[in-house]
Amino acid sequence: MIYIGNHVSVSKGYAAMGRHALSLGGDTFAFFPRNPRGGRSKTPSDGDVAALRRLLAENGFGKLVVHGAYTMNVCAAKEEVRANSFEMLRDDLLRLQALPGNYYNLHPGCHTGQGAQAGTAQIAAALAEAVRAAEEASGMPLQNTILLETMAGKGSEVGGTFEELQAVITQAAQLGGDALAMRLGVCLDTCHVWDGGYDIRHDLDGVLRTFDRVIGLEKLCAVHLNDSKNPCGSHKDRHEKLGQGCIGAEALCAVVRHPLLQDRPFILETPNDDAGYREEIRTVREWMM
Ligand code: FE
Ligand code: FE
Ligand code: ZN
Repeated sequence: MIYIGNHVSVSKGYAAMGRHALSLGGDTFAFFPRNPRGGRSKTPSDGDVAALRRLLAENGFGKLVVHGAYTMNVCAAKEEVRANSFEMLRDDLLRLQALPGNYYNLHPGCHTGQGAQAGTAQIAAALAEAVRAAEEASGMPLQNTILLETMAGKGSEVGGTFEELQAVITQAAQLGGDALAMRLGVCLDTCHVWDGGYDIRHDLDGVLRTFDRVIGLEKLCAVHLNDSKNPCGSHKDRHEKLGQGCIGAEALCAVVRHPLLQDRPFILETPNDDAGYREEIRTVREWMM
């Protein structure tokens, strides 16, 4: 069994997100703690956070997969972008201390001409420092696990290969030790890995074996379940509704049913409205049986 849900809006508060996800048939969800394009985040009241936690527990929700802002880029060549991005990261981690036991997923970043090696080093350093700062400010160990998202490898994106993600984790562990390494994982985006050249349609087992060899399957904590508008290896990153893209329903069904991927939260990021998400969640639940 997997947990399934989609992105919901934080605009009406935390408990409202849980009710919205529930109304669509989900038992996990994703949200942006701040505008996905960056900017400020609202601080929810303690009561609102407690109400969400109660709703999640009462309804058997799996872990949530919170999503960092798209504009966050801790490995940008521009110092100012790096500094702003670091501040967003630190602030998100600190805020989420109130919502323990969940995942915080981020796009590793774009090296913007510095090269992937410089990029992975900057990401690792930012993670180590942001975790340290959030722990210090909250006076407790980090309460959530940080996930690096597999990327399509478009432009100068870092994380288009499993090797680059592993490089970030290895370098972060050198800075923050085992305690930090244990707080890092990976979110596998089916559209992104496909666009990145991993053929999950014809060789899902082979892709998972590669993931296991390079990173370790115990680090694969969550899945973004999307079809892709483009062929394998296109490096485009255009999501499509399940079964309407180049990956196809059969292959995505195999991902949902794969024995090595059970018990994880799966998040839909397909181009849908509420009615479309309700329908896709129903479809995924049929696949699970
Ligand atoms: Fe993402
Ligand atoms: Fe994604
Ligand atoms: Zn994407």
